[in-house]
Amino acid sequence: MTRFVSTPQNSRIYLSPPDMSDRERASLMAAFDSNWIAPLGPDVDAFERELSVRTGVSAAAALSSGTASLHLALVLLDVGPGDQVWTSTLTFAATVNAIRYVDATPVFIDSERASWNMDPTLLREALHDAAVRGSLPKAVVVVDLYGQCADYDAILAACEEHGVRVVEDAAEALGATYRDRPAGSFGAIGVLSFNGNKIMTTSGGGALLSDDTALVERARHLASQARQPAAHYEHEEIGYNYRLSNLLAAVGRAQLARLDGFVERRREINRTYRAALEDIGGVAFLPEARGGRSTCWLTCVLLDEERLGVGPEQIREHLEAHNIEARPVWKPMHLQPVFRGCRVVGGAVAQDLFRRGLCLPSGSTLSEEAQQRVVDVFLETPGLRHRET
Ligand SMILES: *Cc1c(COP(=O)(O)O)cnc(C)c1O
Repeated sequence: MTRFVSTPQNSRIYLSPPDMSDRERASLMAAFDSNWIAPLGPDVDAFERELSVRTGVSAAAALSSGTASLHLALVLLDVGPGDQVWTSTLTFAATVNAIRYVDATPVFIDSERASWNMDPTLLREALHDAAVRGSLPKAVVVVDLYGQCADYDAILAACEEHGVRVVEDAAEALGATYRDRPAGSFGAIGVLSFNGNKIMTTSGGGALLSDDTALVERARHLASQARQPAAHYEHEEIGYNYRLSNLLAAVGRAQLARLDGFVERRREINRTYRAALEDIGGVAFLPEARGGRSTCWLTCVLLDEERLGVGPEQIREHLEAHNIEARPVWKPMHLQPVFRGCRVVGGAVAQDLFRRGLCLPSGSTLSEEAQQRVVDVFLETPGLRHRET
């Protein structure tokens, strides 16, 4: 298998670049040669079947992005103006943007330290208080951060108790499991992303997953401009142009067939970072919480500036000066200017993870030599003190 990647000694090392091979190329060219160019076609149908098998749900709709999938998920759950939607404060803005697209009001919940995902205890208490006040959310969007599922036993039980629907934003976690169940299969609707930096990519794309096949059928309908089956196109409601192109679905099928390999490689990269950095003193890793198996989509560390003598930003800048891309942990949504004034439950944990966190290059194309270069440059950050290992 030819892989279309090369990382010569001094070229840039990216955080999470695409991992393409001649399989994706052949699949794309076959779709192209069949002239199924426009949205929809046999590869979209097959990709949807393969995604539903892989994630253990009854049906999947292949859509144009993870963000579009989140938007449609909220539309399908009838979320609208005046409704609250609770979500994790530690996430990418797309999660919350979708909540704003339907004119609902976001409320942010802090992270737990065990997984960095939504704190189930805070959620349970806040739901209880909201029930007493008569102001329960219409839905909770739970995010699976950095390749790891949230604690769904506790979260689903708390939401079920109050009849609150759950959407799983599994954009960063395809390939992960929680109690042996695949990411994307929790809650009423699951959402995936195939953006360029995710564990597998179609260059851009997403999917909406559910055990409710009628709901997924409705997602496909809304995603194709809500055209009623009449020659003149009858429209009874507002639709969207959110379907995935057949060409991109062909790329997705080849990527999905390689997903297990991507997960194994990213987990291996995580082990190598741990072996190189865990014992130097002052570096802690995003934990793998009990009951789940992470894909290690990104390897994230927490840095103790007092012990190391330098903080995440100095290390990031030093890596950048050596053409290595590292990124801060997501800036919590309750600290974002655009969501100023939104309610937040807790927030100190996410703030601490943001202040001390750093994401290291973790792509499945990262060679052993390139990873060694990342480690060497990390340890050579001016001012960094560490125990010899
Ligand atoms: C990437 C991402 C999204 C958005 O997916 P797109 O396909 O880029 O629209 C949503 N939520 C999270 C947590 C993400 O990381």
